[in-house]
Amino acid sequence: MKTTLRTDITVGDICKGFYYNTLEGKGVRGWSGKLVIQPEYQRNYIYANGRDDVAVVESLLKKYPIGLIYFLKNGDEYEVLDGQQRITSFGRFVTGKLDVLDANGMPHKFDPALHGWLLKTPLTIYICEGEGDDPEREIKDWFRTINIAGKQLTEQEFLNATYSGPFVTAAKTVFSNSANANMQKWKRFVAGDEKRQAVLATALDWVSKGDAEGYLKDHRYDSNISELTGYFDSVIAWIDGIFKDTRPEMCGLKWGRLYEKYGKRPYDPDRLWERVEALFADAADEKIKSKGNIFEYVLGGETEPQLLKVRIFKPEVARKVYARQTADANAKGKSNCPDCALGHDANAKRIYAFSEMEADHVTAWSKGGATSEENCQMLCKHHNRVKGNS
Ligand SMILES: [Zn+2]
Repeated sequence: MKTTLRTDITVGDICKGFYYNTLEGKGVRGWSGKLVIQPEYQRNYIYANGRDDVAVVESLLKKYPIGLIYFLKNGDEYEVLDGQQRITSFGRFVTGKLDVLDANGMPHKFDPALHGWLLKTPLTIYICEGEGDDPEREIKDWFRTINIAGKQLTEQEFLNATYSGPFVTAAKTVFSNSANANMQKWKRFVAGDEKRQAVLATALDWVSKGDAEGYLKDHRYDSNISELTGYFDSVIAWIDGIFKDTRPEMCGLKWGRLYEKYGKRPYDPDRLWERVEALFADAADEKIKSKGNIFEYVLGGETEPQLLKVRIFKPEVARKVYARQTADANAKGKSNCPDCALGHDANAKRIYAFSEMEADHVTAWSKGGATSEENCQMLCKHHNRVKGNS
């Protein structure tokens, strides 16, 4: 089978001679008569619901890509293998048979003065030609396989097809190549399957500050990818330089954003890693909820506890509450653990040392209780554990 990518065929080309059969509800022909829009084996046109059809047209009007279209070449004629719903939708709009809503929510028809530019929008079309004894059968079988057994395209696979050219080709040899000697190193920090373009997606996301598609659009015909690889290498080198070890939680973090924010600050790698380990130890007994954020928390100098949703009281708060509770307990001749003080056994009058007690949320943290002095009480370790869920 032979496939040819065509990016020169426009909406206007396809709409030339577009004919929609209202009675049967199907787009019949287009592209100056040489395209069969709804071959018999295709499912019916189901987008005529004022929602899916309008969405196709609105995507085009917003200059969003509407995805890959496949044509089957059959002598001098073509059949739509995939894309008939989209083609029929924009065909109906251009021929005045479908209204879309304008910015004010008012329905309006295609207006050549307003929407003429739309006709010049190029589509991304694969032309497939069979080569064996029964070429048409070969292609239809292939197409059924990729559509039914095959997987959906990932977002990046889709972008690669839409903006195919020298840039994507060169970028894939670096970032989609499992045999690349650096791949294992990269994947400590980058999540996903490089063969499904996850590493390339990350590299583009980093260099473009989150606008991979815009970046691909701008660089589509460049064969030089050194900005992309250079930026990616800088981020990886930065992570490697300031963190002296690796944890699995480092995989898939928004490193591009962290690099932009913290990449110029000085760090002591020994100290930084010591804090990472200490915070993960706290996370192990669930005092910290958002483990992945530990890295950003330490990079930011531990000034934003909301990143961790911290539920640990500061030692000075615990000491203050301990001193107050203990003075009060001594005066009353009761235990400084308020729960022990309620009992009738030997512990009812026991004064615990600071190290024998733990800080507890009076209103449970899980119920929105603050990690503040007002909401802190010291309990003996036994009662703190009995209470649990603090
Ligand atoms: Zn107690």
